[in-house]
Amino acid sequence: MNKTCPNCGALLIKDAWETVETNDNGSYVFKSYLALKCLQRCGYYERADQNDQE
Ligand SMILES: [Zn+2]
Repeated sequence: MNKTCPNCGALLIKDAWETVETNDNGSYVFKSYLALKCLQRCGYYERADQNDQE
């Protein structure tokens, strides 16, 4: 099922979204999420939470 961008109407494509977070002990942890990004790169994206890796 395809979703479309609320800004420009283009398709949203699945993409990996990685962030770096700092633990309480000062070490860094990479976290990757599944995100939906606008195919036209207008800047819209949304978090896709169905694949939570916590
Ligand atoms: Zn868009």
